[in-house]
Amino acid sequence: MFTDNYLQKVYSQVEQRDGDQPEFLQAVREVFESLEPVVAKHPEYEANGVLERLVEPERVVKFRVAWVDDEGKTQVNRGYRVQFNSAIGPYKGGLRFHPTVTESVVKFLGFEQILKNSLTSLPMGGGKGGSDFNPKGRSDGEVMRFCQAFMTELCRHIGQFTDVPAGDINVGGREIGYLFGQYKRIRDEYSGVLTGKGLEFGGSLVRTEATGYGLCYYTEEAMRVLNNDSFKGKTVAISGSGNVAIFATEKAAQLGGKVVTLSDSNGYIHDPKGIDLDVVKDIKLGHRGRIKEYAERVAGSEYHEGCAGVWTVKCDIALPCATQNEIDGDSAKTLIANGCKVVCEGANMPSTPEAIEAYQAAGVLYGPAKAANAGGVAVSGLEMSQNSYRLSWTFEETDAKLKSIMENIVTNSLAAAKEYGHEGDLMLGANVAGFTKVADAMVAQGIL
Ligand code: GLU
Repeated sequence: MFTDNYLQKVYSQVEQRDGDQPEFLQAVREVFESLEPVVAKHPEYEANGVLERLVEPERVVKFRVAWVDDEGKTQVNRGYRVQFNSAIGPYKGGLRFHPTVTESVVKFLGFEQILKNSLTSLPMGGGKGGSDFNPKGRSDGEVMRFCQAFMTELCRHIGQFTDVPAGDINVGGREIGYLFGQYKRIRDEYSGVLTGKGLEFGGSLVRTEATGYGLCYYTEEAMRVLNNDSFKGKTVAISGSGNVAIFATEKAAQLGGKVVTLSDSNGYIHDPKGIDLDVVKDIKLGHRGRIKEYAERVAGSEYHEGCAGVWTVKCDIALPCATQNEIDGDSAKTLIANGCKVVCEGANMPSTPEAIEAYQAAGVLYGPAKAANAGGVAVSGLEMSQNSYRLSWTFEETDAKLKSIMENIVTNSLAAAKEYGHEGDLMLGANVAGFTKVADAMVAQGIL
């Protein structure tokens, strides 16, 4: 599969050891495919066992989360924290609460996070966590009790200098508040142990908007450099309707694009006039409703069952912001046949390998997740800086820092791609630029 023997050997080891973890294997394989020219040029990586060490998390914590629901019944969920790599900083990465969360999912997310965090140029290692808890239909009290039970165990493994979690799917401001409160209560310590905190207790301005805004800054810069183009006048298809999708919609519209779709796990909306974001915010942020409600409230818009249908809508730019593997090979081909020229990923690993192959064959500008959605964790890094300084920056200051980080990711990815003879390849460039910094740090720190 790999022409390089070292890559082949390590990948076979991963297959043997973690063959039952499909998402993790998918993420490792994609990165390894980009590393062929790098390991050939850097024999010190093999000599120091960098790849063998990179694919094995430093620590995986798996724990019971027992809590009492509103009926007085005991519920038991499984919690995870994968502390993947601390070569360039404390473990950093979100927590996801979703029934699809397994060790494989947390490991793929943690593995991606290592390289993503490296790309931000801030000192953060890679980690990820979560639970198979499904908050859908749960009361506020149940969510609070679940978060408290989750943190009661997690707190012994994290800390402002060791591991700093944040949000991910279904973990937003409300959950971070409950988690932070419980950490403070148990550890009797007021620190920046979590990011995505409320503004009243150490949160950063722009953190809520960061992933979506960052995605658009990245996309705008990549289009400018590679296609001499911009969002202006473009039709944009976005999937999802969480934090990432909402603020990607806002920024894409500010940059002159027209966003015509959003979705949730049941279906998608299509509004040919352009999504009215106030309505979406009222539904999603106001009362955690379903996206279907949009079509009932906005004349001229339509709702369709089935979330994958979102990729049948004609667009110039697609920004998948829902979840992993949401665009398969067929959806990618439909997008391309309908004229889509740009796919940049707000979700983590939303494109299957077949979809990526289709983009590459068609010359689509493809911005991979670990680069395109790094804005969220980048502002988390800025939140950590502000917490250390014990001060807070203005919205404008933080937003300007975010924008320049995202533009630098494009620049650094393209420079790495060029260095290894793959000019214009944002995927290879992101993998290589993210990897080499971590690999060099691992070599410098010795074998551990
Ligand atoms: N969950 C986000 C991500 O996938 C943010 C993580 C963080 O802020 O630590 O990058």
